[in-house]
Amino acid sequence: MLLEILKKNQLSVTEGRKKILELFLKSEGALAHADIEKNTGESFDRVTVYRTLQTFVDKGIIHHIPTTDNSILYALCKDNCEEGHHHDNHVHFVCEKCLKTICLEEVTVPKVKLPDGFIPNHSEMVVNGICGDCK
Ligand SMILES: [Zn+2]
Ligand SMILES: [Zn+2]
Ligand SMILES: [Zn+2]
Repeated sequence: MLLEILKKNQLSVTEGRKKILELFLKSEGALAHADIEKNTGESFDRVTVYRTLQTFVDKGIIHHIPTTDNSILYALCKDNCEEGHHHDNHVHFVCEKCLKTICLEEVTVPKVKLPDGFIPNHSEMVVNGICGDCK
């Protein structure tokens, strides 16, 4: 799985890429930049972590998730994202109890009616509430 993803995206296998991708494959929800650094801190420097995440975003392997506190969250892409082209127009859910951020792959961000002459580029939506596990 892990090696297949790297191969499919024509990425050479490095320890950093393997380790970081493994974290995403193992986690159920989204990962914060800080979590990733904490988990890899011993073996890789910040620049390696940062570059690896950027490469994964460019390749369509992971996507950014908007947050209210400007922290950076990433999650694995499950749609057919490609290099330079993401299709993650799904809603994200943040649980107020366990603080997990979850990708709602099947819930699409609704189209918003804009004033005449406005051109939308990107829209995202986050719903806060209580997740199924915390109910
Ligand atoms: Zn994506
Ligand atoms: Zn929860
Ligand atoms: Zn997502």
